[in-house]
Amino acid sequence: MTLINFPNHKKAKALKPGSRRPAKELCSECGLCDTYYVHYVKEACAFINQQIDKLEEQTHNRSRNLDNPNELYFGVQQDMMAARKTEPIPGAQWTGIVSSIAIEMLNRGIVEGVVCVQNTQEDRFQPLPVIATTPEEILAARVNKPTLSPNLSILEQVEKSGMKRLLVIGVGCQIQALRAVEKQLGLEKLYVLGTPCVDNVTRAGLQKFLETTSRSPNTVVHYEFMQDFRVHFKHEDGSTETVPFFGLKTNKLKDVFAPSCMSCFDYVNSLADLVVGYMGAPFGWQWIVVRNDLGREMLELVKDQLETQPVMSKGDRKAAVQQSIPAYDKGVTLPMWAAKLMGVVIEKIGPKGLEYARFSIDSHFTRNYLYMKRNYAEKLEAHVPEFAKRIVGQYKLPE
Ligand code: FAD
Ligand code: SF4
Repeated sequence: MTLINFPNHKKAKALKPGSRRPAKELCSECGLCDTYYVHYVKEACAFINQQIDKLEEQTHNRSRNLDNPNELYFGVQQDMMAARKTEPIPGAQWTGIVSSIAIEMLNRGIVEGVVCVQNTQEDRFQPLPVIATTPEEILAARVNKPTLSPNLSILEQVEKSGMKRLLVIGVGCQIQALRAVEKQLGLEKLYVLGTPCVDNVTRAGLQKFLETTSRSPNTVVHYEFMQDFRVHFKHEDGSTETVPFFGLKTNKLKDVFAPSCMSCFDYVNSLADLVVGYMGAPFGWQWIVVRNDLGREMLELVKDQLETQPVMSKGDRKAAVQQSIPAYDKGVTLPMWAAKLMGVVIEKIGPKGLEYARFSIDSHFTRNYLYMKRNYAEKLEAHVPEFAKRIVGQYKLPE
């Protein structure tokens, strides 16, 4: 087992807000560099030093088995399932499984604090990382802030607070850096509850996405790219708007996604103890991956609040992925009538359950591989993990 163990806890001066980060334009604003842990940035940053397999060993006692098809795609695991809360939390992103686990952990004294993301008073989509110490503060962090969020900026506060048992909720790039400095935090116990993440944006990028895609950008309170191949927007008045993926103005949106997300291969949050998303579950359900014993312990806490079913898989994604590669590359946008038609056909006969998740992973990994190859060729070999190379290798890519 390889342990990433820094000899002493060294500190460096946090970088000033807005200053250029060591990962330059690939920085995902994970927050590490806002703290004295910036000292470790060269080893810890997900975009400077890709080390998923080493950190998998450190966290789960083994790296993923590349010959096991589920581990190749979804990472180290003990169990996978679809689940939903029998009484969903109003205003949560899906049914609120993430918030419910965090609340249970706090109420039962398993942890003293929970790192999560609220929003600022002025802007519902501007992230505000906090260490929540009450259920109300956890609930105030429910729902996605679909923007890059500096979750790790509170790490200094964690150490100074003297907390010894902590739950961190976060996306893959934040968790990669967290795992790399975990030993320096002075904690007795760290639990990590992760969500998958893809195609994130800066706050300005989010505005452009909403303005390009929604009929009423300023009233959107929540959106998600769903398993029915549509983006679902929820507005302030409770109404829902759907836009087919194939109708997105790809030419205008090409530059919206953050360069960090265009070069990310950790869609499924490989280093969390437990992952809660939706991509491998039937429409309306959440998707759960238990990676290790800590993840199982967390899930057990809410089992009596959940309805569950086994994961399923239907359809064949490969032709659809292959066809979408040049279309995305050239920024082709279909007329809306054709996009709707294609959406309906694909929803009827297209990939479902785990096959939908594989469709989404394949589409993003091929796109990101091409992005890296064209823009950061010198980083390609070291930055793309072995599992992603195998996944991308199934497809014919344009030069
Ligand atoms: P809730 O109970 O509503 O809790 C949401 C939690 O997310 C809160 O605790 C909050 O602290 C945290 N959070 C909110 N915004 C951020 C942020 N920007 N960075 C880090 N943490 C944040 N799942 C998929 O299956 N496929 C995807 O492509 C996918 N993309 C995602 C992109 C982003 C930016 C995020 C944050 C999540 C994404 N997810 C994705 C996860 C999914 O949308 C839900 O967050 C997850 O299923 C949990 O739902 P819930 O109702 O249990 O969460
Ligand atoms: Fe620093 Fe995080 Fe940006 Fe890397 S991604 S440069 S660790 S803030």
